[in-house]
Amino acid sequence: MGFADLHIHSMYSYDGTASISAILKYVADFTDLNVIAITDHDSMEGVPEALDLAPYYNLEVIPGCEVSSKDGHVLCLFIERPIPPGLSLLETVLMVGNQGGICIAAHPMAKGVKSLRFETIRQVLKHPVASKILVGVEAFNGGLVYTRGNLSVQQESNSLPLAQLGNSDAHILQMIGQGASYYHGYTSADLKNAIINRTTIPRKGNGLSGSAVLTSYIPRFVLRKLGWVSWNESPEKPIIYAQINKLASIDTLTHYLHS
Ligand SMILES: [Zn+2]
Ligand SMILES: [Zn+2]
Repeated sequence: MGFADLHIHSMYSYDGTASISAILKYVADFTDLNVIAITDHDSMEGVPEALDLAPYYNLEVIPGCEVSSKDGHVLCLFIERPIPPGLSLLETVLMVGNQGGICIAAHPMAKGVKSLRFETIRQVLKHPVASKILVGVEAFNGGLVYTRGNLSVQQESNSLPLAQLGNSDAHILQMIGQGASYYHGYTSADLKNAIINRTTIPRKGNGLSGSAVLTSYIPRFVLRKLGWVSWNESPEKPIIYAQINKLASIDTLTHYLHS
């Protein structure tokens, strides 16, 4: 049995607070996750670094992106190139299919963020091609401040022919894994099969309470705006805060790890 968290934001999201290396270090040391996806808002800037560094942390990373479709946020996974924001859900899903990827409806009906409506998801599932690409729904999202929203989403998700996933939607390290999915196997290929076969099982985490937003997220968000992020120099070193403009480039870091 493997565990995956397929909705994690890095510093390449305007609201993310951790470097890719810090995310990998946190996942390796403080969670039981086998596979993660880096899903920044409309950006795949962190993906090459994540794919390069993941083996050093004994992890597998799925290349992904949280695309702001016109109809709401959608997780696009196993893709190679960014998908433009602002398209309809159907157009977005078909573009992901052209790259051999799959889509998961992120936090449907969530308040405060642009989220898919269940009617829109059902409409797209009537399309014979799109229904083979949009194969999952986030039945649990750990990042929702309105956590009660997860209950109605879970009920509504039961009526959809989709794999149900739990994800953290982490914007800080401490949230990673607070929402995950069980699946048969361990690898990202096993996970893709499990999603397509609708056999994943959401695992609920503690979510982000209102007070955690105040005490954990906001201070880190302010630091991020001042140019400081969680960072990890190499797998055997601890996570520290570092200034973005002084971070070792990926070339330097990869070279260090190889030496
Ligand atoms: Zn979102
Ligand atoms: Zn998100």
